[in-house]
Amino acid sequence: MDIKPLKIELQCLFCDSALTGKDDAKFESGDLIKCAECGEENDFDSVLEIAKQKGLLQMKEQVLESIKKAFK
Ligand SMILES: [Zn+2]
Repeated sequence: MDIKPLKIELQCLFCDSALTGKDDAKFESGDLIKCAECGEENDFDSVLEIAKQKGLLQMKEQVLESIKKAFK
């Protein structure tokens, strides 16, 4: 099985832009992350929840791909 490391990106809930903090920025539960694109403030908990779900989906897809390849 060849599973690539997942790149989980935080995305703005309002405009889907990637949310980028400073390199040393650490977000905590309850924080608001201001989007650089639309200026809306995203609730960190919601953003993280969506990122986690996307990460799980990506992982499932990769596993399915590996299985398909293995049976070719
Ligand atoms: Zn935005």
